[in-house]
Amino acid sequence: MLVVMKQSATDDEIGRVVDTIETMGYEARPIPGRQRTAVGLVGNDGRVDSARLEGLPGVLEVIAVSHPYKQVSREWKADDTIVTLDNGTRIGGAEIVIMAGPCAVESEEQIVGVAHTLRRMGATILRGGAFKPRTSPYSFQGLGEEGLRYLARAREETGLAIITEAIDAEGVEVVGEYADIIQIGARNMQNYPLLRRAGRYGKPVMLKRGMSATIKELLLAAEYLLAEGNSRVILCERGVRSFDTHTRNLLDLTAIPVVQSLSHLPIIADPSHGTGLRSKVTPMARAAVAAGADGLMIEVHPEPDHALSDGAQSLYPEQFEELMRQIAVIGQALDRKILSLPAMASP
Ligand code: PEP
Ligand code: MN
Repeated sequence: MLVVMKQSATDDEIGRVVDTIETMGYEARPIPGRQRTAVGLVGNDGRVDSARLEGLPGVLEVIAVSHPYKQVSREWKADDTIVTLDNGTRIGGAEIVIMAGPCAVESEEQIVGVAHTLRRMGATILRGGAFKPRTSPYSFQGLGEEGLRYLARAREETGLAIITEAIDAEGVEVVGEYADIIQIGARNMQNYPLLRRAGRYGKPVMLKRGMSATIKELLLAAEYLLAEGNSRVILCERGVRSFDTHTRNLLDLTAIPVVQSLSHLPIIADPSHGTGLRSKVTPMARAAVAAGADGLMIEVHPEPDHALSDGAQSLYPEQFEELMRQIAVIGQALDRKILSLPAMASP
């Protein structure tokens, strides 16, 4: 339920609404908006008697939120959420944000080296898994905390922000210590203890769509993060399972406009996992920008043929550079620029 205040409502009147909600045994979440403030009511799992709230001074109207993912919904918050990082990157605004890097951190030279290359080519966020959720227990599982330290080194040298995955609830603290954005992977989209821990931790979280999750399930998983008080959440479409075997997954580009109409959260696309094939990444990245994605996550490896994971879908750096040129042109047609960091001072 949402209590929408009049434009003229005073702080005292908003405070009284908050107090009343709390006296009724629920939690109140004030949501300042461009036009007016609203106060959200959470903690109810059924109908709430709105009469007490409707009569309070300063209240314009009381709206029942019809979606089960209420704090994630546009009904709850009409304005787009913009997630701002320490290096100035804003995700969800007018500009398109590019995250790029190898699937996994493999060594200090690999991640720091590729970070410099990607920074020069226009990425603002460096990706790289230190804890890898692999389909086979015998595949490379990541360097763990050592990998996180290499990522931090790469950030120090380049100014790129870091996104890296936490694969379980216990891992949130250590990943959160190093990362600017904590990634929750497709296999963990409905790992509720992990979602709750990441929600409470408070750092920005990027939540990837499960490989057989509906959009509603994705939004409900995001609701867990917001319910814990973390509204700095980014969604990621990374492809779903299909009956066709030509690609690893089916990148569901419709999810972009659908999510944007249902939710205020930013949504980015990952055509690397979405296709699983290097030659299909660039076309689908172009299409995702055309579909209105707030950003892209692209796997790039300095030597894809020797990558310890996902080499077949990783771009060569030169291919990434060409992709950056192409999406800049597509962005222009939509009046959107690719977000860039200020030029680095030469050493
Ligand atoms: C990844 O980003 O490397 C990854 C494992 O992605 P997903 O969770 O989408 O499979
Ligand atoms: Mn990968």
